[in-house]
Amino acid sequence: MHPSDDLNGDEAAESFSPREGRSAPLFRLILSFMLVVVLLFVGIEGWRIWRDYRHAFASAHDSVTNLASATAQHAEDAIRQVDVVTAMLGERLEGDGFARMNIPRLHRLLKQQAALMPQLHGLFVYGSDGHWIVTDKSETPTNANNADRDYFEYHRTHVDRGVYIGAVVKSRSTGELIIPVSRRLDNPDGSFFGVLLGTVKVDYFVEFYGAFKIDDRGALVLAKRDGTILLRRPFVERVIGGSLAGSEIFQEYLPHSSEGVVETTAVVDGTQRLYAYKALDAYPLVVEAGLSRASIIGPWRDDLIKTAMVLLLLLVGLSGFGALVLRQLRERIVMETALRRAHQTVRDLALSDSLTGLGNRRRLDTALAEEIRRARRQGYPLALVMMDLDYFKRYNDNYGHPAGDDCLRAVGTAIQGSLKRPGDLAVRYGGEEFTLLLPNTDAAGASRIVEDILEAIRQLHIEHVKSPSGRVTASAGIALGYPGKEAVGADMLMGAADSALYLAKDKGRNGWCLVDGLGEGRASSKL
Ligand code: GH3
Ligand code: MG
Ligand code: MG
Repeated sequence: MHPSDDLNGDEAAESFSPREGRSAPLFRLILSFMLVVVLLFVGIEGWRIWRDYRHAFASAHDSVTNLASATAQHAEDAIRQVDVVTAMLGERLEGDGFARMNIPRLHRLLKQQAALMPQLHGLFVYGSDGHWIVTDKSETPTNANNADRDYFEYHRTHVDRGVYIGAVVKSRSTGELIIPVSRRLDNPDGSFFGVLLGTVKVDYFVEFYGAFKIDDRGALVLAKRDGTILLRRPFVERVIGGSLAGSEIFQEYLPHSSEGVVETTAVVDGTQRLYAYKALDAYPLVVEAGLSRASIIGPWRDDLIKTAMVLLLLLVGLSGFGALVLRQLRERIVMETALRRAHQTVRDLALSDSLTGLGNRRRLDTALAEEIRRARRQGYPLALVMMDLDYFKRYNDNYGHPAGDDCLRAVGTAIQGSLKRPGDLAVRYGGEEFTLLLPNTDAAGASRIVEDILEAIRQLHIEHVKSPSGRVTASAGIALGYPGKEAVGADMLMGAADSALYLAKDKGRNGWCLVDGLGEGRASSKL
């Protein structure tokens, strides 16, 4: 019988494995904590990234709207000035009458007006067949003819008096790219006299558009309302004159709203951009300002990558750290468990008797002091029994010491087997003496238990030819103390039990005597 099996049953049940015992909740707690930290980080960073993404688009939205407004205003101003000047000149030409036209004076006038406007490339007057009458230039080519230009054809066939904005052409006088802004000149009878033309330098716009700080993938476009491209940044000459009529903005958006913002793929270069478009109020012109999606989300994406890397590092670090902490914790718990067990074993060994497996004298000393205190508090009687085998010296002498030991073991088992209550304690006091401590037990209860034990020893039928009874028997002395009522010390109780035992031996052995109460020394006995 292992000591801890019966003496320390409660404590043995307390032991645990570090994997499934008390450690499991701690592990779960640490794991949950780490998970919460990681989730919190991912959540906060995710929210921040989403917010930055929205913010990037919101500020791009503002940027393209502002760009479109500025370019629209600029285009409108540039055209309006030419509009005003040509209106004034046309009025004057028609008012003076073409018959009395003073060419040198007119040339000076045109030159003077042209010099006032930086965007103006030139001012020209053409006759009804397209030949050049007068310009602001110093030299007028004599056989030049502009009847083939689309604006000329337009005015020849349309009687309206407003300005007409033509497609970009290459100037016949200077070779520059120009936007023609023209109006029809009428004879007094309303018939077609010719065309008054102001040309606007494409370079003027290129320069203005170039001043905006947008990256290479951004785009600024000035187009006619029919989609014909007048100008574009980045400036590529072959794109000029191309058409945006098939683009999403011209197809889907412009017919419904004169301005707006839309994300679409450019028809010119296939780049995905956020575009603001705006149709001018006064002229059939449209501007578009676009920032590429790549440039809008570029900084955001860089930030995203950095954040993801930091998060990954954090995750790896935290997992490593967590694993380390958990491992150390586990090791410590394993060690503590082993220590606890070792400590328990040492304690069990120190308090138990190696021969019988019962408790030893040390165990009794601790328990007795404690039980006296408890009995005093709770006011119940306490029984202490001293038990001694009869004629055991003779048994040893007759059967040998090893047989004596076997006998002691059997008696120990019989005693332990006769105890019913968990609070009852049996120890081997020494030699062939056993002691019982029976808390909350009165005289009748104690005598019954002792009687049972003595009978159980008799029933072992261990032969003892040198004893008058022929078998191994024992004698017992019972002392009953009432710590609640009288002064009861451990020594007093032991002494009383001892004298009761002496009395039992004296009365012939194989029986018991009882001392009930210590105060009056009242004793009763039975054999
Ligand atoms: P009594 O009836 O008066 O008690 O007679 P007794 O012979 O039993 O006398 P006592 O109690 O003084 O005897 C003690 C004897 O118990 C001495 C020794 O031979 C024996 N004994 C004591 N301890 C041990 C032990 O551990 N093993 C064995 N085999 N015998 C022991
Ligand atoms: Mg003895
Ligand atoms: Mg004896």
